[in-house]
Amino acid sequence: MKNFTYFRPTTPEQAVALLENRWGNTELLAGGTDLHDLQKEYVAQPARVVSLSGVNALAGIRVEEKSVRIGAGAKLADIANHAELKRLFPSLTDAADQIGGPQIRNMGTLGGNLCQRNRCWYFRDEHTNCLLKTGQRCFALDGENKYHAIFSQGHRCVIVNPSTLAPALIALGASAVVQGPNGRRTIELGRFFRAPGANNEREHVLEANDMVVEVTIPRSNLANASYEVRHKQAYDWPLVQAAVSFERGDGGVRNPRVVLGHVAPTPHVAEAAARSITGQAVSEATAGAAGRAAAQDAKPLSQNGYKVKLVEVAVKRALIIAAGQKRYWEV
Ligand SMILES: Cc1cc2nc3c(=O)[nH]c(=O)nc-3n(C[C@H](O)[C@H](O)[C@H](O)COP(=O)(O)OP(=O)(O)OC[C@H]3O[C@@H](n4cnc5c(N)ncnc54)[C@H](O)[C@@H]3O)c2cc1C
Repeated sequence: MKNFTYFRPTTPEQAVALLENRWGNTELLAGGTDLHDLQKEYVAQPARVVSLSGVNALAGIRVEEKSVRIGAGAKLADIANHAELKRLFPSLTDAADQIGGPQIRNMGTLGGNLCQRNRCWYFRDEHTNCLLKTGQRCFALDGENKYHAIFSQGHRCVIVNPSTLAPALIALGASAVVQGPNGRRTIELGRFFRAPGANNEREHVLEANDMVVEVTIPRSNLANASYEVRHKQAYDWPLVQAAVSFERGDGGVRNPRVVLGHVAPTPHVAEAAARSITGQAVSEATAGAAGRAAAQDAKPLSQNGYKVKLVEVAVKRALIIAAGQKRYWEV
């Protein structure tokens, strides 16, 4: 790991003042479960590291009358185990509970989860100069791409966004409160992520001298669930994830949101799936049709066609869970 100068501010304003307006030389450090990995691989080589461990304002989960506010420094384990969050937003707590393993969940934070770098093996290899470093091409496009995007239309880099909290939060209509050099602003999480295509772009729209302070989720009594298809039950990322939310009504599902994870460079909003289930009572037949609709525009790469079927299954099962119906796949 390259040596660096360590800063430990105590307020968000002090932390932001220590950042620079270009990426790479100065990095924020939360739990370090991603940043230190990248440093040890020499993929990240910051000369300055700004630790958030002394910024008490980032901690805590506050359940208020109209919304829930989760500090960017809240640990993943605290989110997963929070009784009121479990009741209101099982999609979020289930997603948090499946991340990594106990060590990762006890160190990793909400802010770090949303801003973590992608897991593409070409990007994470010190010796490969891909598009997201200073290279000219995405090696996964015609290389080893079984874990990469199946909705990558128009993107030069075919990573998948690695956050499993993001699809759940987007489906719940959450927003991030961001501290920048000119004060605070709010960004809907549906607009927070971007598909990077160069070394001066990240997987999100933050500037290099911005930081996430908290995430707010409206309390609107939505049915919600997240379903992940995984190779391994721990210390791995999902192959495909579907997060859903909807209002329950006499006339069936209202205002559904279906958001897919691990299938595109950003969390992927499956509008056709939402249209398909709108006004329907959730059943194996209607949820299955929504799953097929979610997958209809997929354009898999050479090795990841299997993800198309997984999208169909994940959406179907997430809708069945959110509707509180029997999990037919569990015997
Ligand atoms: C084996 C393993 C399995 C995993 N499985 C999953 C999984 O299934 N799903 C999943 O979602 N994740 C998974 N992860 C990733 C894990 O969730 C992240 O590493 C963790 O959430 C990052 O949080 P952190 O606080 O440690 O971030 P750090 O490593 O400290 O930071 C990560 C990045 O976020 C930036 N950052 C941190 N805080 C802020 C902030 N407040 N504002 C702006 N930028 C900030 C940092 O500068 C850095 O670029 C896994 C990790 C491992 C090692």
